[in-house]
Amino acid sequence: MDTNPALPGRSLAGPRTVYNSDHEMFRDQVRRFFEKHIVPFHRQWERDGIVPRSVWLEAGSAGLLCPMLSEEYGGAGADFGYSAIIIEEIARTNCTGPGFPLHSDIVVPYVADLATEERKRDWLPGMARGEIIGAIAMTEPGMGSDLKAMRTTARREGDEYVINGSKTFISNGQLADLVIVCAKTDPAAGRKGISLICVPADAPGFTKGRNLEKIGLHAQDTSELFFEDVRVPVANLLGEENKGFNYLIRNLPQERLVIAVRAAMGMEVMLEKTVAYTKERQAFGQPVIDFQHNRFKLADAKAQATMFRVFADHCLALHLRGELTVELAATAKLLGAEMQNRLFDDFLQLHGGYGYMAEYEIGRAWADARIGRIYGGSSEIMREIIGRTL
Ligand SMILES: Cc1cc2nc3c(=O)[nH]c(=O)nc-3n(C[C@H](O)[C@H](O)[C@H](O)COP(=O)(O)OP(=O)(O)OC[C@H]3O[C@@H](n4cnc5c(N)ncnc54)[C@H](O)[C@@H]3O)c2cc1C
Repeated sequence: MDTNPALPGRSLAGPRTVYNSDHEMFRDQVRRFFEKHIVPFHRQWERDGIVPRSVWLEAGSAGLLCPMLSEEYGGAGADFGYSAIIIEEIARTNCTGPGFPLHSDIVVPYVADLATEERKRDWLPGMARGEIIGAIAMTEPGMGSDLKAMRTTARREGDEYVINGSKTFISNGQLADLVIVCAKTDPAAGRKGISLICVPADAPGFTKGRNLEKIGLHAQDTSELFFEDVRVPVANLLGEENKGFNYLIRNLPQERLVIAVRAAMGMEVMLEKTVAYTKERQAFGQPVIDFQHNRFKLADAKAQATMFRVFADHCLALHLRGELTVELAATAKLLGAEMQNRLFDDFLQLHGGYGYMAEYEIGRAWADARIGRIYGGSSEIMREIIGRTL
């Protein structure tokens, strides 16, 4: 049995049953797109600290954005499996710059589920084409994990909201044309006073700060955002006022699954590359893999990545049936991110000094993976969520 994870439909745990043949045909298309439009340019984008808008437009016309969005708004009306395939191809190539999953699987669903019909028609077709890039702004300089402590406010005045405050660490922040801003519409009500409001990038009073320098994800733009008396129509509210926290809780499992799916593929691919490297690299007259210590490290890594593949596919299958719980999504994110970080650290070590060099993929993958333990809810918050169910 060929378990090479680089082959469609295969994984360390054997054939994958979570996808059908249409999914795998789509993977071929995504893979070709990545090889042509992304992989050759990604190192330059890492130096630039951002990807060009042109790749968003190319991805839009190739049908790589918003696969789940219904056809009437320009999507493909497909299931989350298609999104998962795009996420896996990002992980396979470790081309982390294009923030497609954030846009397609995190931002767009809020708009598609909660915006007014008129706003959906205004924004969604452009989002599917890659002309309107989305971001979501929850985190502020003074708070991240504890959403109820946010200080950004949206005060209602007639038919408008007036937004004041600042956000930080916002992915796609520099490129974003439309930002879902989480703000307090009832500051005294804690988590029950949060609303989600869409703010177009050209709204007067809305400014983008610097593109933040990070230790990894170098091609991904991450920004501070400032709001000073920004006025937007009340029609830009998503869903109902003061229900924002509930909407976030409802959508976060998919965001966490995105991180787990990426971790599962990343571990399989980097394991394969590390095995190849240690077979090639000689020390003391023998391949590095022939030292029992190193072979055991790789054997442990293979066993763990195999186990996680089964669990990640299980969660993916549950999500495709609409049955992924908050708790299981948190479990998948916690295990995936923590395991990926441990394994990548071992893989880097097995590369010796070359592992520390930016031109070797493992070094960049190691730095890129570190964020998995922090964003989308940190590992500690995942433990809190799981702990509450005990
Ligand atoms: C590259 C990058 C991209 C990001 N993209 C986005 C984005 O697009 N949109 C967005 O809104 N945010 C984004 N974030 C922000 C990210 O979600 C937050 O950084 C994260 O939620 C943690 O919040 P914080 O940084 O304020 O840490 P804090 O909340 O200050 O936490 C500090 C430490 O305390 C721990 N901690 C906090 N609460 C508890 C608790 N109850 N029990 C135990 N430990 C606890 C945390 O786990 C952490 O270890 C991004 C961050 C980065 C770095």
